[in-house]
Amino acid sequence: MTEVASVSMAKMFVNGEWIDAGSGETTDVISPFDGSVVESVPRASAEDTRAAIRAAEDALPEWADTSPDQRATLLLAGVELVKQQSKELAKVLSAEQGKPVFEAMGEIHHFLHGLTFYAGLASKIRGSQVPLPPDMGKHSYGMVLKRPVGVCGAIVPWNFPITLMGTKIGPALIAGNTVIVKPASSTPLTTLKIIGLLNEAGIPAGVLNCVTGPGREVGEELLSNPTVRRIAFTGESGTGRRVMEIAGPQFKRITLELGGSDPMIVMPDADLRKAVTGALIGRFWNTGQACLAVKRLYLHEDVHDEFVEALIKKVKNYELGDPSTRPEKPRQRMGPLHTAGQREEIEEQLADAVGKGAQVLCGGKRPDDPALAKGHFFEPAVVTNVTHDCRLVQDEVFGPVLPVFKVKDLDEAIALGNDNQYGLGSSIWTQNLAWTHQAIRELQAGVTWVNQIHYGYDELPFGGVKASGIGHEHGPEAVEYYLETKGAVIGGLA
Ligand code: NAD
Repeated sequence: MTEVASVSMAKMFVNGEWIDAGSGETTDVISPFDGSVVESVPRASAEDTRAAIRAAEDALPEWADTSPDQRATLLLAGVELVKQQSKELAKVLSAEQGKPVFEAMGEIHHFLHGLTFYAGLASKIRGSQVPLPPDMGKHSYGMVLKRPVGVCGAIVPWNFPITLMGTKIGPALIAGNTVIVKPASSTPLTTLKIIGLLNEAGIPAGVLNCVTGPGREVGEELLSNPTVRRIAFTGESGTGRRVMEIAGPQFKRITLELGGSDPMIVMPDADLRKAVTGALIGRFWNTGQACLAVKRLYLHEDVHDEFVEALIKKVKNYELGDPSTRPEKPRQRMGPLHTAGQREEIEEQLADAVGKGAQVLCGGKRPDDPALAKGHFFEPAVVTNVTHDCRLVQDEVFGPVLPVFKVKDLDEAIALGNDNQYGLGSSIWTQNLAWTHQAIRELQAGVTWVNQIHYGYDELPFGGVKASGIGHEHGPEAVEYYLETKGAVIGGLA
């Protein structure tokens, strides 16, 4: 078996081979912790992307013809190889992304769980037989066939590069499609290693490819090339608009998993200890760089003060530092933000709120520790007295800053929760059934969690409304987006 370390990481994976960009150009992957170069990868062009698309097109007929059991077996063999290397892979993911190793380990487990889930669905894809009226011919019947869409482009962001690749390649491959994965330029390393391992498990050449390079070149070639029939995109809502502009006029099948600003509502009868943990993990996991994060907290006035006090105590437990190490308990590691630009944006959003009267209750600045000066660190913050028109509320805040609001009842919480362009996740914390039903019914979001942290289960469809996107990933529902439904009519044969 190939050792992870021996896979050449200065190459990308196309048509069963590790290759360079045609131009020989490379892009450095920079550590968010200390600014060092972790590794460099090929900087592919549109022409390199076209070569990968041709390989995926050539591989399609044979892959579409394999039995569902065979596809599942190959996927599960790949899962096994990745599992064996998961500790090493988590270290690479931590180094390129900046997340603590234990969080990276969690991401790889989630990816493996997702692929295993989809391998189990491979043999469950089926069409149907429909009796037809006899007017046009006695004993006629219709058939509904499910067939692969074709060559698929999977465009992935940097915040959860591995799970978000898995939510695309899992359903695509079991449905008999071939795929070109385009990772974010700043997080291609673990992706390449995993794609190498899945291919090593026996997936035929050309079925699963990875092209590394800029969104404007590699990504837009995938969007505009007519051979690519399906685009699965996860990223910012602004980029999602660009995806629609280019791929829409070609009638490609598109799913968009975009930004979010999830409200979390805490009612007076909630289990406060659990809710505080939910808010903490929901907002600060991955240094707050999550789409379905708790980005606005609406606390009932009866529990507001107690909740905020308990939350701040926990937030102060975070210790900023090297993501490859763990602090002494009960301190918890928080890694740096992924890029310098990311940190500047958070600072601007926070400054905008403070300028409008907000009060920062803890954190909210770069740490003083000179040992952290090379990383994009930012102290996790809880903020109050925030007006609803400021950027901290209306933008997507992709970092560890949590605005907290006091509300008098559920109606007010829901109205404020919906006062936002996004509609990805949402949650309510209560034991009251009427409040639960009202929140599920009225919150404008793709998912409402009740007394649970905002987590994307592989078993359930996940997707946003409003500016958070179109379509779903996860769950059996995701497979449907990778299938064409064809009708056939069988006339009487007698
Ligand atoms: P991004 O939109 O900048 O980039 C996402 C991917 O698109 C990258 O691979 C990038 O190279 C590529 N890309 C950029 N420009 C492109 C173009 N013109 N054509 C084609 N591809 C292009 O997003 P990001 O900063 O990497 O990720 C963070 C964003 O992703 C946040 O908004 C977050 O909420 C969102 N996100 C959403 C979900 C979800 O499931 N809804 C999950 C994770 C992240």
